[in-house]
Parts: sequence; C-alpha cells; structure tokens
Amino acid sequence: MSKHLVLLGGGHANLHVLEALAHDPLEDCKVTLVSPWCGQIYSGMLPGWVAGHYRLDECQIPLDQLAAAAGADFLHTPACSIDANHRRICLGGGNTISYDVLAVDIGSAIRTDAILCEPEYVVPVRPAQLFAERYRRFVCTGDSGPIAVVGGGMGSVELACALRAGLGQGIEITAFVGRSGLVPSHPRPLRARLLHTLQNRDVAVITDEVRRVDATHVETRAGRRFPTSFVVLATGPQAPHLLHGSGLKLDSAGYLKVDACLRSLSHPDVLAAGDCASLPFDKITRSGVYAVRQGSVLARNIRAVMTTGVLHRFRPQRRALYLISTGTRHAIGTWGPWSFQGEWVWKWKDLIDRQFVRRFSAY
Ligand SMILES: Cc1cc2nc3c(=O)[nH]c(=O)nc-3n(C[C@H](O)[C@H](O)[C@H](O)COP(=O)(O)OP(=O)(O)OC[C@H]3O[C@@H](n4cnc5c(N)ncnc54)[C@H](O)[C@@H]3O)c2cc1C
Repeated sequence: MSKHLVLLGGGHANLHVLEALAHDPLEDCKVTLVSPWCGQIYSGMLPGWVAGHYRLDECQIPLDQLAAAAGADFLHTPACSIDANHRRICLGGGNTISYDVLAVDIGSAIRTDAILCEPEYVVPVRPAQLFAERYRRFVCTGDSGPIAVVGGGMGSVELACALRAGLGQGIEITAFVGRSGLVPSHPRPLRARLLHTLQNRDVAVITDEVRRVDATHVETRAGRRFPTSFVVLATGPQAPHLLHGSGLKLDSAGYLKVDACLRSLSHPDVLAAGDCASLPFDKITRSGVYAVRQGSVLARNIRAVMTTGVLHRFRPQRRALYLISTGTRHAIGTWGPWSFQGEWVWKWKDLIDRQFVRRFSAY
C-alpha cells in the first residue's frame, strides 16, 4: 500500500527534500507539502528588500511550483496542531491529514516573552510575509515618526541599516540591543565593526532591554521612554508554538529533540531540521546556514526511513560564514575569529543569495 510523506513547512531543509524528490521520486509514496504561503521569502534577502535592492518576488521561492515538480500535493494552509501519537495533523480550516512519515521544518518564532505589549504594537520580523505586509502598510501611511529595532543580533543590525537605506535620512532610527550589546558571543572586532556601522548610518544604539511597548512608546528596563511609530522585533528565535502538546519529545526550550540523523527521539516516523529542531550538538546556532546543511541529510534520511535503509548522521561544520548586509550595497563578513567588510562582500552575498533563490525557483 502507498505510504504518505508529509513535509510540514517550506523551510530551507524541506526545499532540499523537494528538490531531491523532483530529481528522484520515491516509489509508491504520496507526498504532501503543507505551508501557509505559496512563496517562501528567503530571509537572507529580506533586509535587501527593505533597503530597496530587491523586489519582493526576487526574494521568494515559489513553493507551489517546486511541490508540483516534486510530484507533491500542495496544501496552502498552516498546520494548527500535530498529534504524533496518532500520526495526524490538524490544518487551518479544520481538516485533518494522516501521515506515515513526517518531516518538520517550520522554523522558529520571534522571542516576545520578555516584552509586555499588545501584538498590534510590534512587528516581528518572522513570519517574513507578515513583516513585509505590515512594513508596506507603514510605508504607505507616509508616517515619518521614529522607528525602533529591538534585538542585538546580526538580523537587527541588517534591518536597522536597511531601514536607513530604504527610508532615507529624515527618520529617526534606534536599535535597542540589550545590556550585553551587539552579538555578545562573537569576537570583539566584529562587534566593533557592527557598532561603528550603525553609528555611521546614523542609527542610535541603546544598550538596554526593552521591557514594554505601547501604541506610542518603547520603554526600557531602566524606565526610559522613547516615542516610536513602528517597532520591529528581531529579538532572536523562540520555539514554535505548534510543537507544544504534539506528544513529540521537546527540549526545555520547546524545540523538537532529534538525534544526529535528524530523527525524533520519541517518534521514529518524524524527522525535523532547521530552527525548530534541537540537535545533539553544543555549538550549533539557529541559522539558515545550518538549516541548509541539514537539507541533504534530511532528504537522504527520509528516503531511508521510507525504505528501511541506513540513516546518515548530520555533521555540523565547526565554523559558519555569515555575510551581514549594511544597507548601502556594502556588507560585513565573519568566519570564526575573522571579519572583513566592503562592497565586494555585498557583491559576494548578493551572488550567493540570488543563486539560492534561483536554484529552487527553476522548476
Ligand atoms: C532578517 C533576518 C536575516 C537573516 N539572515 C540570515 C543569513 O544571512 N544567514 C543565515 O544563516 N541565517 C539568517 N537568518 C536566520 C534564518 O532566517 C533562519 O535561521 C532560517 O530561516 C531557519 O530556516 P528554517 O528552515 O528552520 O525555517 P524557515 O526558513 O523559517 O522556514 C520555515 C517554514 O515553515 C513554515 N511554517 C511555519 N509555521 C508553519 C505551520 N504552522 N504550518 C506549516 N508551515 C509553517 C513557514 O511559512 C516557512 O515556510 C536571518 C534571519 C532574519 C530574521
């Protein structure tokens, strides 16, 4: 009897699975991709869209086309819950689907737990589609009030610089980077480069946590209040709510626990990769770089699980290259203890990013 493989989420790793299926379909297997959006916005290019370097369609991978090429049914809807004990997924609209094997690549949410606010007062950078929609609406209002970017990671630096490039000099932009400062776990030279770049772009840097956001102000832990019209949250990853109550074994932060072969520790018919997975390695950060690397292992191991073959281990690289765009067709690169910058770094990033989107859009 034919088996049912469900790919939940069109994240980086599941893109590789779809590509592999397009080249080499699984015999006697029905495949379904579940995604709330037809297009996957590539996060590496999102700041470039804000800066005005790309159209939104240039940053998007058409999941429906890729699914069709892979022979997969495309369900254009979010999953609302997973019942791993009964191998069932409840979808938006109330329908339920069953699976024999499930590959979860739903990414992460943006951390909101430390900030008191109503959801309408903040604009999380993920999901990228909702961010893009709300940012477009903000730009259309013509509001030139101050903008706050909350978060001390590379993503928040990229966005603050992109906002400056996209909106020009007339607007006040402040980055609230927390008391530990920018990218605290990275080497000092990189931190200095990022800080210098923000200052150069006329972005004010506040080294305090944001505690509360209301309709008109951002308030820090020290009690300082800053007027704001638009508050971007780039506060780092948080486990996706969908995994709660799924019956799957989760780590203490709520991420799906998998072994080195990306297989769930509690349910061997479930595999997971990317930000939503909790892997048995210490030095692995949640980033697109690692999600992409897990893609080929996920594709091979899905095949192995479906055909009772041998599973392969994911071996994380010791160092990852990050290229951080700084708004003006200029970027900063970092690899281990080294960092570098220039227009050539942006050109390199632009080439890699465009190639990535083109690769999965060519179906
Ligand atoms: C502004 C910004 C810039 C970044 N730049 C870089 C960079 O240059 N390099 C880098 O390595 N990392 C970068 N990152 C981090 C990177 O975006 C993430 O680590 C990466 O996207 C994780 O990939 P993923 O495959 O786990 O999930 P994602 O790429 O987030 O994909 C998850 C997918 O799951 C879908 N999904 C979510 N919920 C559901 C649901 N309930 N049902 C069905 N589908 C669902 C989503 O629609 C999406 O298609 C950046 C992040 C941000 C915010």
